[in-house]
Amino acid sequence: MKILQDYSIDEIDEWLTSLGEPKFRAKQIFEWAHLYVSPDQMTNLSKELRERIAGEFITNPITIAKEFKSADGTIKFLYKLSDGELIEGVLMNYKYGNTLCVSTQVGCRMGCSFCASGLEGLTRNLTAGEILGQVLCVNSYLGGTLADRKVTNIVLMGSGEPLDNYDNVVKFIKLVSAPEGINISQRNISLSTCGLADKIRKLTDENLTITLTLSLHATEDETRKRLMRVANAYSLSEVMDAIRYYYNKTKRRVVFEYIMLKDNTTHADALRLKALLSGLNAHVNLIPANLDKNSTLVGITKVKQTRFWQALHDAGVSATTRRTLGSDIEGACGQLKRRHAKEGL
Ligand code: SAH
Repeated sequence: MKILQDYSIDEIDEWLTSLGEPKFRAKQIFEWAHLYVSPDQMTNLSKELRERIAGEFITNPITIAKEFKSADGTIKFLYKLSDGELIEGVLMNYKYGNTLCVSTQVGCRMGCSFCASGLEGLTRNLTAGEILGQVLCVNSYLGGTLADRKVTNIVLMGSGEPLDNYDNVVKFIKLVSAPEGINISQRNISLSTCGLADKIRKLTDENLTITLTLSLHATEDETRKRLMRVANAYSLSEVMDAIRYYYNKTKRRVVFEYIMLKDNTTHADALRLKALLSGLNAHVNLIPANLDKNSTLVGITKVKQTRFWQALHDAGVSATTRRTLGSDIEGACGQLKRRHAKEGL
């Protein structure tokens, strides 16, 4: 079956035209799709059209299977897709609104050594409608509408590498920011990538106004290769050239993620980081490593984390340490799904 949320207004319009239905219905169906209701709730459509939609489309491609609420207001969701696959997401409360972290793939084939999402490789890409479905399903679950959104910001930082599912992710960004739908501004969307340089250049040419985030994690190729398999395919200089291309064209601030480990937080790293980011409007998000107990990587103490932040600060690099939200409910990316998949949910 087709997924209704995969469709733009124009595509719904084409489908309607093939049925001989009037054009204005496309906007109505698109709104219902974004309100995430079932066909019988699409009250301004004829019974016949509702039945047609029910017969041809999945209207709820993703459902909440379990949720975990943290004392700080963070909610972790375990979602089920229509083929039974599980993915996860996190909703974080900030002063300015609610940020939802969404997944772009079931699993991931990038194989970063610190990340649980890639442990079993890639199962499949999510469609644009399945990525959008996460936003719509949570908005509706929290009582949000299109005019009164309960999800205001999106980070593409759940499981998967967004630029490895390029076409569906770009379509998702266009659908989620469409004025007729949930209409989340592209300025409130961050896309995080491990650094597929050619895709960063391609993304630049889409002329979107999202924030680009690079998972940098090291200041030298050798260290980066040990942490991230993708560093064998793209050197730091190739990735940073692509980032400069993006920055020079968009003039948008670029965010760099940096997991603090024993190996990548020396004073020399702070200086190399400064050099790597020169000429960019950049901000560094320092992430306290959230390691699996079987990991061979070594994190650093709070005192050493502060020392690294100070070294960056002294070098004139804008950096903040990421708050760890929801640490009482479950660990990092992919860990929740792994546990529940084993329990046979
Ligand atoms: N594939 C994309 C987006 C998903 S990962 C990317 O690589 O950016 C989102 C962020 O979480 C990345 O910066 C990633 O490096 C980080 N991350 C993954 N596992 C982590 C862990 N165990 N501890 C801390 N950060 C982690």
